[in-house]
Amino acid sequence: MAVDYKLEGHVAVITGSTSGIGQALATALAEQGVNVILNGFGDPAKIEADRLAIQAKTNAAVRYHGADMTKREEIADLIAYAVKEFGRLDILVNNAGIQHVEAVETYPEEKWDALIAVILSSTFHATKAAIPIMKAQGRGRIVNIASAHGLVASAFKAPYVAAKFGVVGFTKACAVELARTGITVNAICPGYVKTPLIEAQVIDQAKTRGIPEDRVIEDVILAAQPNKTFVEYSHLAGQLIYLVSDQGASATGAAFVIDGGWTAT
Ligand code: NAD
Repeated sequence: MAVDYKLEGHVAVITGSTSGIGQALATALAEQGVNVILNGFGDPAKIEADRLAIQAKTNAAVRYHGADMTKREEIADLIAYAVKEFGRLDILVNNAGIQHVEAVETYPEEKWDALIAVILSSTFHATKAAIPIMKAQGRGRIVNIASAHGLVASAFKAPYVAAKFGVVGFTKACAVELARTGITVNAICPGYVKTPLIEAQVIDQAKTRGIPEDRVIEDVILAAQPNKTFVEYSHLAGQLIYLVSDQGASATGAAFVIDGGWTAT
């Protein structure tokens, strides 16, 4: 028997959803009948084609807002756009992210600032803007896409690890603060998922470590993942749909690891 998560007509903002995990999660929500607002950078023609494609294969209305997640006024405008278009906001997925892999001693200051802005500060600004809307509705779901790197560290990724640990901490604090409002706040901590972000890392790490790309995949990237298998989008989508449904009502302040056993080691 198919489970009905009763998400038809809900409204979601998914930050960083023009690519990779965010786009897959937005599509999975739209497949549940959730009206979604895409966000992120990219070629405008491709973004529009992707928007129409998701809309065509689902029962959902799909919109796009191009907020730069490093700019707090644009983030506020993105959240306001959900209410303007659909009259409500049920789900916020803070997913936008970037990466730069380098030793701390040479790490460019502007890249530190950018990582903290896109990953950590944007999560704060979007959450802050969403809370009053969700409080007024008496229900809300905030899901932050952190990382296994929100729970354990790796060399050459200090700013990313710092930002993701921050996201997990922010998630827990918000969950406690909002525990009696009908709003839940959780983090999903994926292991390695083969997205454009990871493909770029393979190239970077090959340069940093001076080894070929196929060895980076086996010995460096998936070295941490005992099942030696990339996490698939559908594995993350299943967790997200559970969390945003009524079945997820008691789950709050948690960091759900979906990492092939990485953080168990
Ligand atoms: P991706 O590069 O495919 O997608 C990143 C998205 O963020 C894109 O849509 C991009 O346009 C958007 N973005 C970047 N900067 C932005 C900005 N300033 N304003 C608005 N949008 C911006 O990456 P991905 O691998 O799908 O990663 C998505 C999230 O998942 C990130 O937070 C990442 O840290 C996290 N994550 C990824 C993996 C993985 O293995 N790929 C593992 C764990 C966590």
